[in-house]
Amino acid sequence: MSDSEHGDGCIFCKIIAGDIPSQRVYEDESVYAFKDANPKAKIHVLIVPRRHYANVAELAKADPRTLAHIVEVAQSIADQEFHGAYRLIFNSGEDAGQSVFHVHAHVMTGEVLPE
Ligand code: 5GP
Ligand code: ZN
Repeated sequence: MSDSEHGDGCIFCKIIAGDIPSQRVYEDESVYAFKDANPKAKIHVLIVPRRHYANVAELAKADPRTLAHIVEVAQSIADQEFHGAYRLIFNSGEDAGQSVFHVHAHVMTGEVLPE
């Protein structure tokens, strides 16, 4: 298995560890949520599992409870920020726009979103 599959050198593992600063929104024993550095909506939060998985399918297979928990956390952020309305995106694969290979949910909320 390569280093990146273990999370070594992974930018989001470094954010979770506190080695790279981030604007924390929420955290618990299984997930960490922080503001996207390049927001595409008024509120744009990334939710990541503390354990390193490359994409959402790997997370679903290995730890479906944490995937379900990510959805719950997204909902609670949107409940606080925008009466429960939000967009939840998992880019999966380079050709779909995934640039960081530590699974992350994009939560976009806080305003009416374009179609
Ligand atoms: P992807 O393109 O993989 O779906 O999303 C990666 C996201 O991570 C992008 O929206 C990008 O703005 C965000 N991002 C990349 N590096 C950092 C960083 O160091 N800090 C924060 N807060 N966000 C980052
Ligand atoms: Zn990682």
